[in-house]
Amino acid sequence: MSSQRADPSAESSPEALPFRVRGRLAPSPTGHLHLGNAWSFLLCWLAVRAAGGVLVLRMEDIDPDRSRPEYAAEIMRDLDWLGLDWDEGPPGALYTQSTRLERYAEVLGTFMRDGLAYPCYCTRKELKSMASAPHAEDMGPVYPGTCLGLTDAERRLREREGRRACLRLHGGEDTRFTDLARGPAHFGWAECGGDFPLRRSDGVISYQLAAAVDDADQRITLVVRGRDILPSTPRQMLILRLMKAPLPRYAHVPLLLDHEGERLAKRHQALTLKSLREAGIRPEAVTGYLACRAGLLPRPGSLSPLQLVPFFSWDRLPRHDVRLEPDMLPRLRGLRLATAPCAR
Ligand code: GLU
Ligand code: ZN
Repeated sequence: MSSQRADPSAESSPEALPFRVRGRLAPSPTGHLHLGNAWSFLLCWLAVRAAGGVLVLRMEDIDPDRSRPEYAAEIMRDLDWLGLDWDEGPPGALYTQSTRLERYAEVLGTFMRDGLAYPCYCTRKELKSMASAPHAEDMGPVYPGTCLGLTDAERRLREREGRRACLRLHGGEDTRFTDLARGPAHFGWAECGGDFPLRRSDGVISYQLAAAVDDADQRITLVVRGRDILPSTPRQMLILRLMKAPLPRYAHVPLLLDHEGERLAKRHQALTLKSLREAGIRPEAVTGYLACRAGLLPRPGSLSPLQLVPFFSWDRLPRHDVRLEPDMLPRLRGLRLATAPCAR
């Protein structure tokens, strides 16, 4: 990846958007939102609002084992508390993935009919033992295309063995795009994990398919999300291309890490927005602090998302992940908000 930054207003870029920005907040209701979610949602919200755009909220509850409606309600409450509003969202049927299964099946059906996707009978164990080339983190082993060339007879044989297939999208091309937060990006197909499932062997639609179909149907033009999702972007771009949908622009922002450099996760209970709220911390302290750590303010102050809009600029965002200070909670409580300079 080059270190050169993209100019979001560059009309010369083939990816420039000549129409109104439509961005999305796409939480998975699998737990409480933590500061790391607040960080990427705030940056997304600011990018969209600074461009005078429309914000869509969609619940990515496609995984029935992990999603819970109670969390969806909590997430909306947390976003409200932070001051991150949205213009379109639940309960509209377009904005909750679990209500859109027929739509995903329809797209999947067209891909199968056009020979763009194929059944894969490999077991988890087999996939694990396959030699894997270096690839982007979090993508699992690179799928070597084992089941791509199976004949009908070979497929029937596997079905008779009781194997259940996942459906994989056949790709192969390199992907290039200009990331608004990171500059030019270039991925080989294997680097992103190779041919990937659109539907799991238990019938559950994959995040990649649901997210791409939603981005198309919700006419999303700007996707802002954590850089951990970067390897998914070439996959989703391929789905969009095959659907003949326009491609959004993408911005993958750095991650917010705990003070030891670990990703924020379920075990960081004290850093959920719910805990912060219950500890008496003000939402403007949270957003002002996050904006400062994102390079948008010279020092932390209590500022609501709306007050932060004029400070947003892609150029100011750090290019590296950002660590929370060990004394971040007292900072947030307002003890040192006025005086402490903003760590970078
Ligand atoms: N639902 C995903 C998550 O919470 C975000 C996916 C996306 O922004 O595309 O990690
Ligand atoms: Zn296979």
